[in-house]
Amino acid sequence: MSSKVNNIKKIVIVGGGTAGWMTAAALAKVLGKNYCEIQLIESDAISTVSVGEATIPQISLFNKLLGIDENDFVKKTKGTFKLGIEFIDWTKKGGGYMHPFGDHGTNMDAIQFHHFWLKMNQQGKVADLEDYSLAAVAARQGKFMRSQNMGNSPLSNINYAFHFDATLYAQYLRNFAVERGVNRSEGKVVDVCLRSSDGFLDSVMLESGERVEADLFVDCSGFKALLIEGAMKTGFIDWSDVLPCDTAVAIPCKAKDPAIIYPFTQAKAQKTGWIWRIPLQHRVGNGYVYSSKFINDDDAVAILKDQLEGEPVGEPNFLRWKTGMRKKSWNKNCVAIGLSAGFVEPLESTGLHLIQSGIAKLMGLFPHNGFDQIDIDTYNNQTSTEFEYIRDFIVLHYKATDRDDSPFWRHCQNMEISPRLQAKMDLYNANGRIYRQDAELFNETSWLAVMHGQGLKPKGYNPLVDVMVDAEIERRLTHIHSVISKSADTMPMHKDFIEKYCKSNF
Ligand SMILES: Cc1cc2nc3c(=O)[nH]c(=O)nc-3n(C[C@H](O)[C@H](O)[C@H](O)COP(=O)(O)OP(=O)(O)OC[C@H]3O[C@@H](n4cnc5c(N)ncnc54)[C@H](O)[C@@H]3O)c2cc1C
Repeated sequence: MSSKVNNIKKIVIVGGGTAGWMTAAALAKVLGKNYCEIQLIESDAISTVSVGEATIPQISLFNKLLGIDENDFVKKTKGTFKLGIEFIDWTKKGGGYMHPFGDHGTNMDAIQFHHFWLKMNQQGKVADLEDYSLAAVAARQGKFMRSQNMGNSPLSNINYAFHFDATLYAQYLRNFAVERGVNRSEGKVVDVCLRSSDGFLDSVMLESGERVEADLFVDCSGFKALLIEGAMKTGFIDWSDVLPCDTAVAIPCKAKDPAIIYPFTQAKAQKTGWIWRIPLQHRVGNGYVYSSKFINDDDAVAILKDQLEGEPVGEPNFLRWKTGMRKKSWNKNCVAIGLSAGFVEPLESTGLHLIQSGIAKLMGLFPHNGFDQIDIDTYNNQTSTEFEYIRDFIVLHYKATDRDDSPFWRHCQNMEISPRLQAKMDLYNANGRIYRQDAELFNETSWLAVMHGQGLKPKGYNPLVDVMVDAEIERRLTHIHSVISKSADTMPMHKDFIEKYCKSNF
């Protein structure tokens, strides 16, 4: 049969949170108005998570796919720019480090920069690692700009992401998708019908009694996982043994000092979890992520309120989850994207990236109406690998710590981690070696920032560094340090950059 006859004729997306509208916007852009019908069903009666406010640089690829104007998007979502994440009190109380977006130093003679730095550091001759990262230095000074065309200068290579109001982001994408032909239906899905012949999804039933059929269903119903789990019983892999946090309470507040907007997310460790701080143009997002086994809700709210820098601008909003992922994110004619597919936890802001990545994989493996199992298996294998690497990276923050000042941290220190993460830590601890594997999301820079920041100390370094005499290494490191520092000096303040290009009218 020709593929034309076999094309998917209708896609139904269930859920209008960030996942639903990101999926709808991307499908509408790529498929255009004539390929097939796209319908999104959402219910105003069921609230969205709406706290996905921090992103990672890969989101620029999604913006490019949609072709959206970045300044307009930042303005309409009251957004700010993000150069990294500052981790406070994770290794020990009083310690802090930056996980910047962008390289530390520059590789020399095909050897990673950090090996030269490790050698000098072991002799006590260098500045802190983050002083060799433009993103980290600029972030701490409250500075930001986009890359300039300046040859070898670090100013030519500024990697950044965004903070934004997640509700406004979903609205922005909704307008984008609806303008491009997505049909939006308001209504609660009350029943899901499977085909008796093969267990594929046939239709969803709305509270109004309307039955909506489709060839392909995208489950964006959030933690409920209405289709993939509720109807199809796909199964879930539970990671709470290594990721114990299962609850968050969010309370936005006014900024203490509106005169400066730092372009980074803050993650401040607590006795039983951590508190995020996300600066937006009009307010600051805050949330305490904790394990309900180690602290109750009232105490968590009290701790969060105590640490708010300004007047609260909302009531406490509780979110509860189980960390882990669906056994299959794509099952028969149902693809789960967003929280219905799984959730690692908010540290390192990977939720929206996993949505974007799910959409990209779906485009790459887009089915015809016959649904080839090999396409589905490939999607599921890639998704599992991606989730597992992200899980390992996040577990590293909890596991590699000297903190033992509470039952929570003692639990983290003693938990059994995956052999793959253990191997990565062992490899780094021996001679500082780091490899990015299987197209994993986080690159060597990220692993270095967090392994170093969390206090891992390699015993050695790549011995090929010894080919260069120490005086030359020192000279080069001093030069790089000075270039980074001078580059940061020329950057505008983040707040001024926003005022100039993307200030929202609130
Ligand atoms: C505490 C916390 C902090 C986070 N922080 C970040 C972050 O900083 N960065 C990041 O990238 N990610 C973050 N995430 C993840 C991010 O919030 C989610 O990935 C993102 O919001 C996508 O959610 P969703 O659309 O899958 O689900 P939801 O927002 O829950 O949306 C579900 C949708 O399904 C609809 N629905 C449900 N049931 C029905 C029904 N019966 N009928 C009709 N409609 C229905 C709802 O109305 C809603 O529209 C965070 C998550 C949590 C929990």
